[in-house]
Formats: sequence, C-alpha cells, structure tokens
Amino acid sequence: MTAVIALVGRPNVGKSTFFNRLTRTREALVADLPGLTRDRHYGTAQFEGRQYLVVDTGGFEPEEREGLVAAMAAQTRLAITEADAICFLVDAKEGLSAQDAEIAQELRRGGKPIYLVVNKMDAKGAVGELPEFYRLGLGTPYTISAAHGHGVEPLLEAIFSDL
Ligand code: GDP
Ligand code: MG
Repeated sequence: MTAVIALVGRPNVGKSTFFNRLTRTREALVADLPGLTRDRHYGTAQFEGRQYLVVDTGGFEPEEREGLVAAMAAQTRLAITEADAICFLVDAKEGLSAQDAEIAQELRRGGKPIYLVVNKMDAKGAVGELPEFYRLGLGTPYTISAAHGHGVEPLLEAIFSDL
C-alpha cells in the first residue's frame, strides 16, 4: 500500500512550497486511487526507495475569516480521513497564531499520527518563535525550511520509521 502523507496548515505557512519540494510529479493522476478526493493536489514522491503520496490541502482558501475557519476545518478533517500521517505546518516567521491552535484541536480529534512542522526556519527571528509552538501540545516540533530543503530528511525519517 502506498502511504499517504497530508500537508495541513493555515494559508501561507508553506504547504505548497513543501509539496513541490517533496514531489516529483506535481499533479498525480488520482482517478485510479480509490477513496481520494479529486479536487485537491496530490503528488507522488519517494523516500529511500518507498513511494508515497503527498496531499496539499490548501486548494480552497477563501479570504474572509468565517469561510476560512470552516474551510480549514473541512480540509483538516478530510486529511485525517485519507492520510496515514499528517504534517501540520506552522510558520516560524509569523509565530504561533489562533488559527494554528484551531487546526491543532481538529487534528487531535482525528487520531492520526501528527508531525508538527515549523517551517521558514531560515527567516530572521525564526528561532526566537520556536518555544511558542510547544504550546500546541504536539510535542517537539520538526524544524524545516521548505524553501531551502533544510530539515526535511529527519522529518521523513521519523514519519517512515513510524508507518
Ligand atoms: P501555502 O499557502 O501554505 O501553500 O504556502 P506557500 O507554499 O504558498 O508559501 C507562502 C509563502 O511563504 C510564499 O511566499 C513562500 O515563498 C514562502 N515560504 C514557503 N516556505 C518558506 C521557507 O522555508 N522559508 C521562507 N523564508 N519562506 C517560505
Ligand atoms: Mg498553497
């Protein structure tokens, strides 16, 4: 079975940047993959010879707050349903936000393995924001720079050793 890894997080945390870094085929053909939703971005990727599927959940991101909260919750629930592991991305440049806390709450209900991923660690001031993310109660975060590729390897190692 191909493992499915979903990328979850509020808009602008770097989900698509991370998706593009992980995947080789940006728009996987999902017609043959039963149980997966069509209107999202799937891509295939490989880690140490194992093929897996990456889901970018950020396809639908309305501007206004009401719609956004509902959309994020729906996307998160969908990710929980179809993923074997969830990378929950947060943004070290912006720090912890109320939206992050909302998503964390949704994820905790889901019972799927969650990897808290603090992205944009290359940004100025990022290290100072790091302690805040422990408040999400999701353990020690994995620190990455999706833009530069730093930290991705240890994260994937952890995910695949648990799968
Ligand atoms: P999404 O809305 O979660 O899909 O986020 P995007 O992937 O579209 O990225 C949002 C913005 O953050 C873009 O301007 C990216 O260039 C920037 N970004 C993404 N990853 C990184 C990173 O690792 N470091 C920095 N400094 N910027 C990043
Ligand atoms: Mg995106």
